[in-house]
Amino acid sequence: MKIKKMMIYGAMGAALSFSACNSDNKTAKSSETSSNFEVTCDEFADIQVLRYQIPGFEELTPQQKELAYYLYEAANSGRDIFYDQKYKHSLGIRHTLEAILTTYAGDKTTEDWKSLESYAKRVFFSNGIHHHYSNLKFVPKCSFEYFSRVIKSLDANTLPLEGKTVDAFLGEMKTVMFDPNFENKIVNLASGIDNVAKSSNNFYEGVTQKEVEAYYTSKIDTSDMRPISWGLNSKMVKENGVVKERVWKVGGMYGAAIEKIVYWLEKAVNVAENDKQKKALQLLVEYYKTGDLKKWDEYNIAWVNDTESRLDVVNGFIEVYDDAIGKRASYESVVSIKDMEATKRIAAIATEAQWFEDHSPIADNHKKATVKGITAKVITVIQEAGAGAPSTPIGINLPNANWIRQEHGSKSVSLGNIVYSYNIVGAKSPMMKEFALTEDEIKRNAEFGALAGDLHTDMHEVIGHASGKINPGIGDPDQTLKNYASTLEEARADLVALYYVYDQKLVDMGIMPSLEVGKTEFDGYMRNGLITQLTRLNLGENLEEAHMRNRQLNAAWVFEKGKAENVVEMVKKDGKTYVKINDYEKLRALFGALLKEIQRIKSEGDFAAGQALVENYGVKVDQTLLKEVKERFAKLNVAPYKGFIQPKLTAVMENDKIIDVKVSYPDNWLNDQLERGKNYGFLPVKN
Ligand SMILES: [Zn+2]
Repeated sequence: MKIKKMMIYGAMGAALSFSACNSDNKTAKSSETSSNFEVTCDEFADIQVLRYQIPGFEELTPQQKELAYYLYEAANSGRDIFYDQKYKHSLGIRHTLEAILTTYAGDKTTEDWKSLESYAKRVFFSNGIHHHYSNLKFVPKCSFEYFSRVIKSLDANTLPLEGKTVDAFLGEMKTVMFDPNFENKIVNLASGIDNVAKSSNNFYEGVTQKEVEAYYTSKIDTSDMRPISWGLNSKMVKENGVVKERVWKVGGMYGAAIEKIVYWLEKAVNVAENDKQKKALQLLVEYYKTGDLKKWDEYNIAWVNDTESRLDVVNGFIEVYDDAIGKRASYESVVSIKDMEATKRIAAIATEAQWFEDHSPIADNHKKATVKGITAKVITVIQEAGAGAPSTPIGINLPNANWIRQEHGSKSVSLGNIVYSYNIVGAKSPMMKEFALTEDEIKRNAEFGALAGDLHTDMHEVIGHASGKINPGIGDPDQTLKNYASTLEEARADLVALYYVYDQKLVDMGIMPSLEVGKTEFDGYMRNGLITQLTRLNLGENLEEAHMRNRQLNAAWVFEKGKAENVVEMVKKDGKTYVKINDYEKLRALFGALLKEIQRIKSEGDFAAGQALVENYGVKVDQTLLKEVKERFAKLNVAPYKGFIQPKLTAVMENDKIIDVKVSYPDNWLNDQLERGKNYGFLPVKN
């Protein structure tokens, strides 16, 4: 199973449950961070860019700071890779925009210029020209004629012409940048089509889904209990009629950027905190040098075993959301430090993992007899890059290989300082007032919303993904459940969290004050799954993204199954639609029933049942409701998507030795992106 990253509230921030912070660790954190720090940075299109701080960085030893700096440089060195993975024309377009923004000498007060600048901001935000969330192409609001005039006014040497004339270059841009129908979707999950050929990402070229599947069917031994992650680190192409993999490694595809990553990782090895961390980093270097996926597994095992270090890093080709058939992974890095205080809450849940597994509503033969080695912590993010930025997860659970998780456990983290920034903007959001039905709900959310959100994230990661087992001989969900695997896995992890957030056990454990927290979470989840997440769609659209599908699937299923007993109602007030929960106890039982069924589907590899669930509940959108929700949302003036500008680390040198590392917090989105583009632009336009 390769889907461990969640964005329950991530892109939406305010919509669910954020309000004034009231849990202890949050208070502690706010006193550590500068209280007059400006969290908001920029707004354009449907995006709001936020900022986050790194509390605790100053407590690190000089050696830990040096390590952090090397991991920070390694993270950013892979920046170009993700652009190219998403779409093969992305780097060329980015370089074109960089040339325009840094050298155009014409009038910068016109509407056309502002449109072009806004387009550039969006491209930087999405790591390409397709929307980071919907995966659909967006085009500049200015005309192609205006764009041509700007291009022709520049020094041609600043453009990525690749041997073409400026006119030929413009001809290509007209199609690639300005035609909304040309290669318009990065990931196309529609059923009944060739999901490989119809997706515009750069993971495949000239091959069909059938050919890809045949290639792996001939290679994969399904009786192998420790399979490598086939296809994870390569592009699949056809050369002279032969299907083959172009591996991402030193000396292979993306070699120029990977060499830089290795350069910094090797420096990191020398200042590792302990032997376990050192061993993990060494294996990661070896993997990048050889492209050997067995090494990748060895690295992951070493990484899972490194639990004592204060600093940690995720770096590699990790998540497969951008590949319609879930094999190839996007480059990503997250550099972090452990938040000691906040980790206590999440650790309490991890300690009870076996209790949660034993008391789960799933069938007994689908339960793990021993839930192994779940380590959980709250981290303070230092830097995110690649698929982790600027749009970020708020919880991560890795590694993804099922057999490693079963034999060696996994690491679950909650991104504390990111959530903290979301909380601050969320507290000011008008979303609750507009979409919550009663004053009670609003009050409950103000009191328990932040804690409910934290607990959901913790449980989704720590006991959600980690729970349950697959029947012997069935194979991984990416083979059995195919394009529905991601959605069903996220649904399953959410349901574990929902089932237990309304359990007295959490009160007895002392991590929540009462079941009111569970009610708050149910209110928010149902409201979001049935109504507020629709704010991100355009009229006429249905749901595509795995997390959005899973939330509607869960909410719509329990709504329908509870209809006879009026467990949840959709009510109208003054022409507006609201969700009303009448029976929280019964709603919890329904979440449990769905969890049992989805676990069965995963355990047995029941593709037909999984497909029916997702297609019947998780895809179609009531267009009348969508129209109403869009209208209500438009009046609020809230950007539906959020992401972060990253902090900057600077090494203070004495001779050729690092003696200190300084953190600064950029506040200009365009300048920051231009600077990173220049400092880390290691790849050619065509790879
Ligand atoms: Zn997840």
